[in-house]
Amino acid sequence: MTAIIADFRSDTVTRPSAGMRQAMLSAELGDDVYGDDPTVNHLESYIADLTGKEAALLCTSGTQSNLVALLAHCQRGDEYIVGQEAHTYKYEGGGAAVLGSIQPQPIDFEADCTLDLDKVKAKLKADNPHFARSRLLCLENTCGGRVLPLGYHSRAAEFCATQGLALHLDGARLFNATQQQGVTAQDITRHYDSVSLCMSKGLGAPVGSLLVGDRAFIAEAHKWRKMLGGGMRQAGIIAAACLYALEHNIDGLSVDHEHARLLAQGLADIPGISCDPLTVQTNMVFISIDDAALAAPLKTFLRERGIIIRGEREIRLVTHLDIDRQGVESMLQACGEFFG
Ligand SMILES: *Cc1c(COP(=O)(O)O)cnc(C)c1O
Repeated sequence: MTAIIADFRSDTVTRPSAGMRQAMLSAELGDDVYGDDPTVNHLESYIADLTGKEAALLCTSGTQSNLVALLAHCQRGDEYIVGQEAHTYKYEGGGAAVLGSIQPQPIDFEADCTLDLDKVKAKLKADNPHFARSRLLCLENTCGGRVLPLGYHSRAAEFCATQGLALHLDGARLFNATQQQGVTAQDITRHYDSVSLCMSKGLGAPVGSLLVGDRAFIAEAHKWRKMLGGGMRQAGIIAAACLYALEHNIDGLSVDHEHARLLAQGLADIPGISCDPLTVQTNMVFISIDDAALAAPLKTFLRERGIIIRGEREIRLVTHLDIDRQGVESMLQACGEFFG
């Protein structure tokens, strides 16, 4: 097989850079289950400061971090309100229901990936023995590559305060949002009771997600993480990569966004591919192959040229720090040849 020059399947495919590996090699380690891994402790206080929260918890994955948050917010028989296409609802194996006896109340996203608060309100259950107890609203940012409008966070927070709901953000790609909007993490996180952040997406760490919230919430989350098998011993080796990612790779997300724009503009000009560059906000480009029969041959054609894509007729292309401008140009050239 040809060597890979650009893998557009996801921003999770990045390999740790030389600098990141060096940071992992030289990390000071302890036993985090005893709370004495200095690198984990440093990472947790670093992200807590960055997001303006009291405390943080290193989790094995975004799925675990979101699940731990749901378990910490909700009791058995409670309900969380969530987007129909949201990761926490659709792509995490139904963990909240399976492991927490927490009932999901999914609601369709609006075009901008917000949940219409009037529609949420209409689904809230009265305090009555017939119903699950509505307890938590869960949002996602970025969401299918889209960034939640800045004004929405405070409206959602006010709504939740009025309705007695807690508010969780699946911020797997939160820093893509802050880079796109030119705001600080705290401009967004201050509106939420808890936020989950992935280090292993565009930030380039091999493993790790962080959950932030107040001290009591994180103490509760800590217990659930242990129960889920997420208590890791010399986890500083992972925390060092996460710290490196936070210190070095946030600004570079803007480059990924620029690459996604270039990619979308180029693909939009190729007959046979449909793509609207105006919908590209961060590092994701959605395209559709006009002739469905050409989707599989295109994939093979690209693979022979070292380019990997994923999907059938509808394809999501994701840019990340292991795709440079040359990778984008190679993709455009190969697609041009294929459809030319
Ligand atoms: C990737 C992702 C997660 C977490 O996924 P893991 O693969 O478990 O780390 C959560 N939410 C969103 C929106 C994601 O894209």
